[in-house]
Amino acid sequence: MSTRQQDARVIDGNRRPEWARSAVYVDGGWRETAAGRTVEVENPATEAVIGTAADAGVADTEAAVSAAAAAFPSWSALPPPERLAVLERVYTGLERRRDLLVETTIAEIGAPLRVAREAHVDTGMAVLRAYLDAAEELAWQERVGNSLVLREGIGVAACITPWNYPFYQVLAKIGGALVAGATVVLKPAELTPLSAYLLTDTIDEAGIPAGVFNLIPGPGRVVGEALAGHPAVDAVSFTGSTRVGARVAALAAASIKRVSLELGGKSASVILPGADLEPAVRASVEAAMLNSGQTCTAWTRLLVPRADLETALRLAAARADTLVVGDPTRPETDLGPVASPAQRHTVTGFIERAVADGARIVTGGTERPAGLARGHYVRPTIVTDVAPDAEIVQEEVFGPVLTVQPYDSIEEAVALANGTPYGLAGAVWGPDQGAAVAVARRLRTGQVDINGGAFNPAAPFGGYGRSGNGRELGRWGIEEFLETKALQL
Ligand code: NAP
Repeated sequence: MSTRQQDARVIDGNRRPEWARSAVYVDGGWRETAAGRTVEVENPATEAVIGTAADAGVADTEAAVSAAAAAFPSWSALPPPERLAVLERVYTGLERRRDLLVETTIAEIGAPLRVAREAHVDTGMAVLRAYLDAAEELAWQERVGNSLVLREGIGVAACITPWNYPFYQVLAKIGGALVAGATVVLKPAELTPLSAYLLTDTIDEAGIPAGVFNLIPGPGRVVGEALAGHPAVDAVSFTGSTRVGARVAALAAASIKRVSLELGGKSASVILPGADLEPAVRASVEAAMLNSGQTCTAWTRLLVPRADLETALRLAAARADTLVVGDPTRPETDLGPVASPAQRHTVTGFIERAVADGARIVTGGTERPAGLARGHYVRPTIVTDVAPDAEIVQEEVFGPVLTVQPYDSIEEAVALANGTPYGLAGAVWGPDQGAAVAVARRLRTGQVDINGGAFNPAAPFGGYGRSGNGRELGRWGIEEFLETKALQL
């Protein structure tokens, strides 16, 4: 059996008709795209074609937006418990498909089995669960003096998502939007549409009313732009690069849409004097390399007291060198490939330019990992001797690359941590929680993990500065899709 056949079997499992993968889901049903076009989907580990997806265009976008606009009045008028009942069925349906979702995630993005299960699928499910729980607590209406303040769905929400966590990113948007009473048009990333198809199957089976949810896989420059500028779209929720986010916001401005942007990051992990160095360095390396470094919140810059620099470099290299790079279907694998040849080229280009600029590669580099002739693999790479204004310190690499920088004072550590245009995430490791929190309060960033604090799917998530605006997850992720009305009584 060829690799292509094996991969197709993994994904399809004969569980759903192949034709649907060339279709869009509009107004409660599957239909071919207006132009009848499809694109192929590649497995980044095997470089085999593993499926197809719709290559939607402007006519499909028009149909999806019309369906979502027509469905909005009745969906938003439903009492919240009735909307939640539909979404509970979606949750149950996704639980039933968990293994298939994991297999699909491995195949379309190359995430290793454990990462696909925990960071992609289980975290996506936890985010949906947290939305359902938050909806129970939300003040849909409240009295303020002689006013009755109502919270209502915003209208048609266009959700545009990236390829790095294809399942999680979609749920982080549509969960909040559908709970709020908005109707949705989803445009997933071209590289990774297959998990969005599985999600749409589940939503369809859950009996969502026609038009409330629509899926139109297609190119960003066509479908994404048409959605961002569409006069009948009320809100655009975009996750992706800062460059495209700026374009989306500009297109949306003409019709005064609400725009939520979850963009790039260049987050710092700050180890304070007196912190336990070994676990802090180990966790920082693992966070930087998770999902082959293709994580918007990755702690890509490690800041250590100057006296600890050489020990930290030794510890970081030791951890990076023990990470298993290879076949993502194997349980022992820590790092799969990056998403595409273009992404590999981008990542190795950053490393080459850093070296040309005087940086020292502590471990890793641009050579392919041994024994991996196929697949878009990059070695886990630790870089030091970098200036605060170096490209590799300032710009998002989106690959398995960690820079390590020393600092001489807490003031300098805070300045370095805040010294990029981004502000999405970060970490502070201190001798005690109080010391770490004191530094975290000074960081201009949306989330900070203190001494290894765990991800919380109910806590607000989003960026400062060029990392975007708006918040996802929990109550905050629902409020992004709500309008507020005051009735004076
Ligand atoms: P991207 O190139 O900006 O694409 C993101 C999405 O926008 C894709 O669906 C893309 O469609 C679409 N798009 C492209 N051009 C467009 C246009 N002109 N108008 C409207 N939509 C357009 O980002 P990516 O490479 O997929 O993802 C990586 C980036 O996402 C990184 O910068 C990462 O930090 C960021 N990210 C941020 C967060 C966060 O929560 N802050 C989370 C994850 C990722 P196509 O796929 O068809 O091009």
